[in-house]
Amino acid sequence: MAKARETVLELDLNALAHNYHYLRAKLRPETKFLSVVKAFAYGSDAQVIAKKLQDLGTDYFAVAYTSEGVALRDAGITKPILVLHPQEVSFDTLIARCLEPSIYSKNILKGFLESAKKHGQTNYPVHLKFNTGLNRLGFMADEVYHVASVLNTVHEIRALSVFSHLAASEDLAETEFTELQISRFQSIAEALDVALDYHPFRHLLNTSGIINYPQAQYDMVRSGIALYGYGNEAGIDAELKPVASLKTIIAQIHYLGANESVGYNRGFISNSAKTTATLPLGHADGIGRHYGGGKTFVSVHGKKAPIIGNVCMDMIMIDITGINCKEGDEVLVFGPELSAHEFAETGNTISYELLTAISQRVKRIVIP
Ligand SMILES: *Cc1c(COP(=O)(O)O)cnc(C)c1O
Repeated sequence: MAKARETVLELDLNALAHNYHYLRAKLRPETKFLSVVKAFAYGSDAQVIAKKLQDLGTDYFAVAYTSEGVALRDAGITKPILVLHPQEVSFDTLIARCLEPSIYSKNILKGFLESAKKHGQTNYPVHLKFNTGLNRLGFMADEVYHVASVLNTVHEIRALSVFSHLAASEDLAETEFTELQISRFQSIAEALDVALDYHPFRHLLNTSGIINYPQAQYDMVRSGIALYGYGNEAGIDAELKPVASLKTIIAQIHYLGANESVGYNRGFISNSAKTTATLPLGHADGIGRHYGGGKTFVSVHGKKAPIIGNVCMDMIMIDITGINCKEGDEVLVFGPELSAHEFAETGNTISYELLTAISQRVKRIVIP
């Protein structure tokens, strides 16, 4: 790859293929694979990533909102797309673009049924989401009979699947709670099979669910973060390849004496002579202010350089004292050699937030 000459997010599609095959190999061959590509495919590029995953053979996609599903259809994605958090205002568009809603409450069921009627649909595929303990979205277990009695009497929509979402699949201290969620899901799915005139397929696991609870893979799994190269634990991270590399360049170098300050509000004070570099990357690009103050590092020619002072909107300053480099040189922010997981931890957050925060201002470059 050519050296960066501006701030770029490089997307390595071979890494994506590696991660996809790694996850697939953990599953029974007949288990369907849903690729979660919400939030611009975790901050990368949903259209590019989804096209590659479609070529690799993924069975399903999921996005959070209808507009994200529309962008996939515009890019030529023909596989089914589950919309996890559909909003009533977008039901017409959702139906027009053949997107499949998660139906998670009586209100949404009623509203979507009306839209499907209005558009003259029969057996429009929907997915029933049940709450098993996350307490975010989902029908409660005792609503199975209401849902089934509605579905048994209408022909406009048909429940293709039933699903739920785990609250702490990555946290082995919460195994007991996760097992409780699995058994609640099992009961709900069984009750639905009895109450409903047909049998929706089942899915429960996210990335860490696939890794820690493969016995609960049911008919399909839904993975996001691992496709992008992060597995929520060191052993899995070592097996995966980060898709995105955030790179920038040194815009300017400053030589400071002792007791000089750097940046807004004089956030850094030099206690001795220092060399600093200014990089064209700031909180408007997704590197939030919590990464300032000297605890987060970028890599300059393989050497760690801390982000000092306050992160600005368009720029950060790093301490390059003792590092042999010059203006125009490439700087790695995160990527295969500098984990986004570790970078995020220094800012007290998780890889998910760091990755999805990289703003649309940063140019995406695809490595095919
Ligand atoms: C985001 C999301 C996922 C993907 O989770 P990962 O931890 O990234 O694998 C799966 N299911 C639902 C319902 C989600 O909202």
